[in-house]
Amino acid sequence: MVNGTATSVDYTLRKRSVLRDYRCGRLSVYDVCDAHPEIRRIAANVGEDTRSMCPICKRERLRLLNFVYGRGLDRDNGRVFSTRTIFDGLREKYPDFTCYMVEVCTSCNWNHLVRSIHFENTGGN
Ligand SMILES: [Zn+2]
Repeated sequence: MVNGTATSVDYTLRKRSVLRDYRCGRLSVYDVCDAHPEIRRIAANVGEDTRSMCPICKRERLRLLNFVYGRGLDRDNGRVFSTRTIFDGLREKYPDFTCYMVEVCTSCNWNHLVRSIHFENTGGN
């Protein structure tokens, strides 16, 4: 087991506000569906399935990507990992990193930061 803390920030309120602005016309589809082609490609290849339907096009289920960043991550910095790998492997490998969970629609390019989790180990002895 890893001793440490996981501080999570939820961006649901931000998402609601973006969707509200989109529905009432303050934001266009180009504003909200602006996923970089590379992100879309990664989402199609290694994104995790979710049960949530895309809130914009309602054609596809959203896919989830976990990007990790942190000092000392070396080659793993900025890479995408499965949720399982983050909790089972990376937490033991690295003392301090942040995971950004992004939902992506590979149909219309909607993308949104769902949650960020900062992991910090507090020592193992
Ligand atoms: Zn969509």
